[in-house]
Amino acid sequence: MVVVRLHRDGTFANARPCRKCVCMMKNLGIRRTYYSSGFNNEIKCELVRDMISIQDSSSSKHFCRTQYNYPRDDIGYYKMIMNMHLPSIIKKESLENFINYYLKEWKDTLSFDLNYEFEKDGENEYFKMFTSNRFVLFSMKVLI
Ligand SMILES: [Zn+2]
Repeated sequence: MVVVRLHRDGTFANARPCRKCVCMMKNLGIRRTYYSSGFNNEIKCELVRDMISIQDSSSSKHFCRTQYNYPRDDIGYYKMIMNMHLPSIIKKESLENFINYYLKEWKDTLSFDLNYEFEKDGENEYFKMFTSNRFVLFSMKVLI
């Protein structure tokens, strides 16, 4: 599947699929997705089965809150979305795509401070996302 989004001036914008589209593509058995990354004219490719997304449009967020009683506060909302869509173990490459093509920009648009870090625990490495007072929203083990 190819997803491209354009700015008004014709340059490419980030079109990385949202959480619902990634679910749909997994259910349909689509193997790869190509999307404009928003970095110059780059078209990025990811294997759908390894892909993670928690991207939500504001209308989808509104709908989930009014129709399905998802948490009103953003921290609670995203903690729930992360638990629904993120795996406990993640391939390094999939995680890097998620960070570079989504998380880095998305975190600056949130109503709260979201931080992330890699943490070593013996032989294992974990990736954690947490608030400024160290409330952990999600943690996953990174496969190297
Ligand atoms: Zn979508």
